[in-house]
Amino acid sequence: MRIGGDWLTRPETQAVCAMLTGAGHRALFVGGCVRNAIFGVAVADVDIATDARPETVTVLAEKAGLRPVPTGIAHGTVTVVSGGIPHEVTTFRRDVETFGRHATVAFADDVEQDAARRDFTMNALYATPDGEVLDPLGGLPDALARRVRFAGDAEARIAEDYLRILRFFRFHAWYGDPQGGLDPDGLAACAALSAGIETLSRERIGQEMRKLLSAPDPAPSVAAMAQAGVLARVLPGADARALPVLVHLEGTLHPRWLRRLAVVGGEAGGLRLSRAEMAAIETIRRGIDSMQGPAELGYRHGADLAADIVLARAALTGAPPPGGWQADTARGAAAVFPLRGGDLAARGFSGPDLGAALRAAEARWLQSGFTLSREDLLP
Ligand code: ATP
Ligand code: MG
Repeated sequence: MRIGGDWLTRPETQAVCAMLTGAGHRALFVGGCVRNAIFGVAVADVDIATDARPETVTVLAEKAGLRPVPTGIAHGTVTVVSGGIPHEVTTFRRDVETFGRHATVAFADDVEQDAARRDFTMNALYATPDGEVLDPLGGLPDALARRVRFAGDAEARIAEDYLRILRFFRFHAWYGDPQGGLDPDGLAACAALSAGIETLSRERIGQEMRKLLSAPDPAPSVAAMAQAGVLARVLPGADARALPVLVHLEGTLHPRWLRRLAVVGGEAGGLRLSRAEMAAIETIRRGIDSMQGPAELGYRHGADLAADIVLARAALTGAPPPGGWQADTARGAAAVFPLRGGDLAARGFSGPDLGAALRAAEARWLQSGFTLSREDLLP
């Protein structure tokens, strides 16, 4: 099988391959870029595997007039910037020792060893600089059938690195067969070893959940996580049942992972979200419980958060969103309350009275569908 793509044939990327092959080393595309090219979806990052050691990669890059950046020398990665485009060049590795969190790796000389330490068979595909696919583990049929399968024994691979549990669900959501279920062996292993999630940092859990929930349809994966007892470890108290309804209601709208998280619920504190993300989750959750309609939500929170609230509320209550809600949230988001505190101060209001009068005027204005003018609202 041969893959192609602008990312593969562009001179900047071919120059990185040539600097390695010209010195007698191997240059093999690997991981996401190969997998995505096979699936015909966009390739974001280019990873290249090589038998050259990082010091050699650095020297060869400098000789070729490219810029090597030591982004991960300890685990064998040199980022080679070519024509402004970063390429992660990583020396072949093999797993030697594991603590159940990070696999400790040693450099290896051949691609078979490098393939064996990768997580899923669809992530252990390689391609030569001219696009010929190499398949050391026999994972190509899995990829073509969109089966996310652990490379080797699922339980053993999870025990080496429990993050692989979350990656299993994430990769299924993005690249698995939407009609088919998750791989039964992998799922059983994730269920059996779900307690290992506790060894992961909140950052890593949060990053994985963000990527999982950003998939076009994460609902089947999240339902499987719930069944396997993994969801409760990640988000205690979560309930995945409304998620498929939300995804359906979203239709062609841009998926927003925080909206999905708000619907799944549970203790989001285990994800180490940013302050802004926590605030958004809070706003969505409070908005769901409020009596506010789409227009007022748009006015108070802006169009995006208002859409999150309208859709999440509909998913959780089972009542469809009100007709024309998108036009209403947009109208609300654009509306500007015409009265200022100063207007009331000029009329003798002050302190708590002023605040109360301003809120009362705002309520009348909202009630009017944003139509009352400043003059109408002045007492
Ligand atoms: P994405 O498009 O999400 O970046 P990706 O396949 O590039 O997908 P990365 O997390 O960037 O995923 O990892 C790059 C490659 O490194 C993977 O394809 C896989 O081969 C390997 N890999 C990454 N993390 C692990 C892990 N925890 N265990 C084993 N192999 C891993
Ligand atoms: Mg990647």
